[in-house]
Amino acid sequence: MQILRWAARVIVPILINLRAPRSGGVPNRCLEYMSRLIELDRQRGDEVAKSVVENLDGELQDRVVPYGLKFLENREPVFPYEKESVLGEAEYEGMMSIFRLGQNHDYIFWFSPPRGRSGYTEGRLVVGRVISRENGLELECRGIPVLEEADRMLEMARDLYIEGGVSESFVNRAEDLREEAIGVNLDEGVDLWDFCEEVLGMREVWQVVREGKDVEMTERVTRVTEEVKMGVERSLGGISSSNSVRAGAMFESMMADRGYRIVGGNHGGLNSAILGGGIFNSVFNEGKRTRISAEGKKLTYCESCKHWYSGDKCPYCS
Ligand SMILES: [Zn+2]
Repeated sequence: MQILRWAARVIVPILINLRAPRSGGVPNRCLEYMSRLIELDRQRGDEVAKSVVENLDGELQDRVVPYGLKFLENREPVFPYEKESVLGEAEYEGMMSIFRLGQNHDYIFWFSPPRGRSGYTEGRLVVGRVISRENGLELECRGIPVLEEADRMLEMARDLYIEGGVSESFVNRAEDLREEAIGVNLDEGVDLWDFCEEVLGMREVWQVVREGKDVEMTERVTRVTEEVKMGVERSLGGISSSNSVRAGAMFESMMADRGYRIVGGNHGGLNSAILGGGIFNSVFNEGKRTRISAEGKKLTYCESCKHWYSGDKCPYCS
């Protein structure tokens, strides 16, 4: 569960920062309290890839992250989490509600609204399908960025309750959603993604998931990530905690060159921002913003008309 890892990495620095005296010269405001999205010395390759996909400079439907979530028989989730912080505690409660609801519900929805206790500027929705209840609980999940305010996310949750969704306690405010997942059972023959589209909107997102393009995207990014990480390792003669920021900035820049530009600020900052940004971009980039869509097409951003286009020239303003 990436959200919890990020929670641990984001909220703890916030708390530390509240107590620490301000140091001057921080280039990006977010970095005053945010940790880094990419930490090559600490993250596994698939974690790096998922972080890239989730934080891509692109459309929502290109940023859906597929992942598995597993609980052991003793209910412990199989990933690191930080229970010692306010947010970590709320999200841990949310995880436990997933475990309990998953015993008799086939589908789980879990909202993480922006702001509130989180400090995130973007909300997230996890949609999980229970795939095994043997020796614990196993779910196949999609992590979906939601560009809506907390109140709208509360409305989405209420629409799920109207359609038969169940939480263990009464959800009154958007913040309550962090602790309370929603369990759903669907009538036979009803497709989960059709249900999502009907109740929650965000049509493009479910279409990408239906067609498996989110999985393809993540696999593609994982391959590029590995190749780029090797390139960084070669040129720095290894990656360690002492050159982690530099390695991360180089990685971010090389990924951008290949069409996978990531944006900091939602759930963590960029290494390039710590180094002052421009340097690496000017060394490694040709200057154009590009990205790869979920369909695998290379798109270029037109600064004059603000459209993404494929091909050499912007068709909208030429
Ligand atoms: Zn244009």
